[in-house]
Amino acid sequence: MVIFNTQGIVLRTSRYSENDVILTIFTRNLGKVSAIAKGAKRNKSALLPSAQLFAYSNFTLKKQRGMYRVSQSEIIKSFYDISYDIDAFSYASYISRLVENSLLENQTNPKLFNLIVKTMYLLSQKEVDKEFITAAFELKFSDCMGFRPITDRCSVCGDESDQRAIFNIEEGGMLCKRCAENFSGNIRLDITTRKLMNYILTNEIETVSKAQVNKVLTKELSKLMKQYLTAYVSNLNMKSLNILDDLHKF
Ligand SMILES: [Zn+2]
Repeated sequence: MVIFNTQGIVLRTSRYSENDVILTIFTRNLGKVSAIAKGAKRNKSALLPSAQLFAYSNFTLKKQRGMYRVSQSEIIKSFYDISYDIDAFSYASYISRLVENSLLENQTNPKLFNLIVKTMYLLSQKEVDKEFITAAFELKFSDCMGFRPITDRCSVCGDESDQRAIFNIEEGGMLCKRCAENFSGNIRLDITTRKLMNYILTNEIETVSKAQVNKVLTKELSKLMKQYLTAYVSNLNMKSLNILDDLHKF
């Protein structure tokens, strides 16, 4: 038996039996793991607070016969407020599924781990634009996963002088006027969206969250990021992440 101590955030909970829960945890040190929390559904279980969706905790995990078991946990932040706000809950669920679907078992990504914890913290706050935070998360997520779009120069020739906003998903970033003529599928963005993307990629998400961004730009960025992630994350089926669509039907 091997024992691990690591911080982790719960991306998914599934009931295994009357009192036991299987947690999908994104951990700092072990990456994404599944772990059984035995007895966590009992009211007095010490594991109960950490066995909730989005809970951020210090976990002690025991590995036995290829299976992790939560032996101890200490909550750092429950992010309980998220569950009381339908908007926050939907965005947090979307982010959790995006991360869950994009990582392989045991794939670590400390930069992404820090990003998701900070993003959950922001989503648990009242006075933030949650749609914008989520779009900013998507862009920073692409950076953490190694397919950061090039937004400060032409992604083909490297020209920095042409700062118009023509985005090409396949080329992975902006195109200058000359290069744009050689590609199809160009997406014309608002020039401010380009500046916003640069800003998001070069600042921490807490700083980014303070920006006052109008709805039109937020929607443009959000739509672009959905298309971008669909192209770059293998096995990502945005339809399976339709929590947001469901929300916006109402
Ligand atoms: Zn170019």
